[in-house]
Amino acid sequence: MIDLHCHVDLYPDPRAIVAEAVRRECYVLAVTTTPLAWNGTKQVIAGSPQVPMGLGLHPELVLERASEIEQFIDLLPAAKFVGEIGLDGSPRHRESLPLQIDIFRTILEAVARDGGRVMSIHSRGAANETLDELERHAGSSTPVLHWFSGTTRELQRAISLGCWFSVGPAMLKGEKGRKLVELIPIDRILTETDGPFTRSGSEPLFPWNVEQAERALGGIWQVDSLEVRQHIRDNLSRLVSKAGIGGRRE
Ligand code: MN
Repeated sequence: MIDLHCHVDLYPDPRAIVAEAVRRECYVLAVTTTPLAWNGTKQVIAGSPQVPMGLGLHPELVLERASEIEQFIDLLPAAKFVGEIGLDGSPRHRESLPLQIDIFRTILEAVARDGGRVMSIHSRGAANETLDELERHAGSSTPVLHWFSGTTRELQRAISLGCWFSVGPAMLKGEKGRKLVELIPIDRILTETDGPFTRSGSEPLFPWNVEQAERALGGIWQVDSLEVRQHIRDNLSRLVSKAGIGGRRE
């Protein structure tokens, strides 16, 4: 199983999540929301190759944490993946959008200068703005749009720009999300949970709950869950080797 977007450090007991993910042979990209969380998260994960980390600066936090861009740049050479980064144009964060764009651009340019990365990208309420920046500044990086919620047209634009997509149980639950997923080429899809922000009943989603996404994808692609899992695994290998980041050390 593969969870390409999970906030491992934000569960009450991150070490237990890592141990359980390893036990279940679940590959987890532990995205972070602030550069200050990097070192702590690294300690928790303790170098498990099955749980790589993404260096992030979440757009919802940019207003208070823009100054952490310096730490971001310092830590970047040690980061195998980048994320969660991006833009949020929803009503609560719209006001900080110009600052978010500044920071996003600075990050994209730094990443491009450092050889590019696979990047997990947030684009809620700002799909076109996000794609504008990726088009101009992503360089050789490979963007993976996480929980994409734009229009069909924006999705087509993202596909033609070479973006990949990570989709989770929450996105696949709604009609709109499912319709978008049907249009994504099957060789550009990964699974994710976005836990612990997403829930199933009273519990947060855990990385291994990507099973729910595998089942939903199986319904869309008309194949069984095991075939979906194999397919997602092949996609991940291609994503990582294409980005040429296999040899990079954390
Ligand atoms: Mn997230």
